[in-house]
Formats: sequence, C-alpha cells, structure tokens
Amino acid sequence: MGVCLAIDIGGTKIAAALVRLVGKHVEVSERMQIRTPQNPDAEALEKALSDVLKHFAEQFDTVSVASTGIIRDGILTALNPKNLGDLAFFPLYETLRKKTDKPITLLNDAQAAACAEYLAQDDIENFAFITVSTGVGGGIILNRRLFTGTNGVAGHIGHSLADPNGEVCGCGRVGCVEAVAAGRAIAREAAKWQSPCEPPEVFERFRAGEAQAVALVDKSAKAIANLIADLTINLDIQRIALGGSVGLAQGYLGRVEHFLAQLPAIYRPQIVLAHYAQDAGLIGAAWWAANCEKP
Ligand SMILES: [Zn+2]
Repeated sequence: MGVCLAIDIGGTKIAAALVRLVGKHVEVSERMQIRTPQNPDAEALEKALSDVLKHFAEQFDTVSVASTGIIRDGILTALNPKNLGDLAFFPLYETLRKKTDKPITLLNDAQAAACAEYLAQDDIENFAFITVSTGVGGGIILNRRLFTGTNGVAGHIGHSLADPNGEVCGCGRVGCVEAVAAGRAIAREAAKWQSPCEPPEVFERFRAGEAQAVALVDKSAKAIANLIADLTINLDIQRIALGGSVGLAQGYLGRVEHFLAQLPAIYRPQIVLAHYAQDAGLIGAAWWAANCEKP
C-alpha cells in the first residue's frame, strides 16, 4: 500500500500523519495537528484539509480520513445532522478529490479506532471496540473486516437501548447507552449532587468507595456490560477492546467485568483495554485503506 496520509477529523482537532503498515508493524511519522475550525463552516474545513494535503504533498500514495460523524456516500453527516451545524452534509470525498488524485478512503473515527485495535490483536475473526468517553461509540469487525453498513452507520453501538425510561439522547432516541453511560451523562448526574463535581473527581470518589459515586459509575458500567453481552450474543464477538477516558479510568473495567460475571458464560467475551491512544484514528484509517474492498 505504500505510505498513507491519514487524517483524523475530531470535534476539537484535526490530526494527520504519514502511516506505513507492514504486516502488524506500524510506523507513524510526521505527525501534525491543527485546531478544528471554531464555529466550523464548510469553507473553513475545506481550507484546513487543503493545508494538510499541501503540507504532505508528494509524500503519500493514498489518503484515508477518519472523521467524527457518519460518512455516507462520501458525505459527512451524523445520526442527528443538526449536531454538526454548518458541517452537516459536508462533501468530504469531493473536497479531497479536488485536491489530490490519489486513492481516497473515508470512515467514521470510532470505526477507524476499531481497525487500529483489531490490528493490535492476534488472529481473531469477530471483534468489537467500544469507546466510553464524552459519548459512547464503537466499531465492529466481522470475518476480519470492518463492517460499516451501506449507510456508514454500523457500529454506532452507543445508541443501543439501555433504559426505556432514561434521558433523551443527542440522537433523538430515549434511553440510549450513551445517555446512561457516557462521560456527559456522568457529568450531568454529578452536577446535581449536594457536593457537585466533574467526572474525574467522580472517579476519585468512586475509588474511595463513596456510595453516590460508586452507584453512578456502576450505572454506567452495567449499561456497558449489557451492551457487551448484546453484541456478543448478536454477532458472536470473540473479544472486545474497551477504550475512552471513562472506559480506561482506573477501576472501571473491573466493574464492567463484575456485571458481566453475573451473566451466563455465552455472553462474556474476552475484554481487553484499548492499546492505542491518540493515534488510533490515524492507524485505523491507514489499515482500512489497505484492507477495504476497493470499488
Ligand atoms: Zn442515542
């Protein structure tokens, strides 16, 4: 595949690097990072992407972009396009095509992270990545391939049902896993406490055994345990990697495993902590460029 220019478009930053994959060996070089345009509009994003391509001119054989949101037919959208403001329906593929004649691959950032985590595993066929961070996202590998679906939606597992009587989720559905388990949900509940605090302190209080914090973290961990059980029974997932600031918080995995242990063995895949940190989107984007079916 040669050298892939991998670009990761997030809510606050755009990261880019040259990625070379040889088997399971990963080489990331020439990392750069710019701020995602504030009050982003299509023109500002187009300019930012143009700057990245110019910066790496002549140094790459393919371009692969991992982006927040959903990529459908080359267009950036979201479960709830209103959440993207002016960037809803941004023509990502066309914008890049105007600036490079190299092959272009696009995917969602959590799907990309799933690819990177899959690359870090030994040989398994069915795998999922779950990130529990501000939101809850993920990606699914079936028969050794990333499953994106025809609409790019596959793997938006944070919008599975956790509690039919729960809060309204940002996607518009009531009681999604994300609305119960994500950092945003933890922050919302902890802000209502008599002694309110932010999520990092929620975890300190949880580790100190404070009942209110333990109950809140357990609510999140239980929703994630049930999500893992659902994925496993639906798709015969062999192993799951858990990542994200909440997923990787000290003590969290133990609680997820505690709730899973109460279920029959068939619902309990092997669970590992995510291997890659900030480069997961870049590495996964490059892996997908090399492994997706070319049209
Ligand atoms: Zn939702």
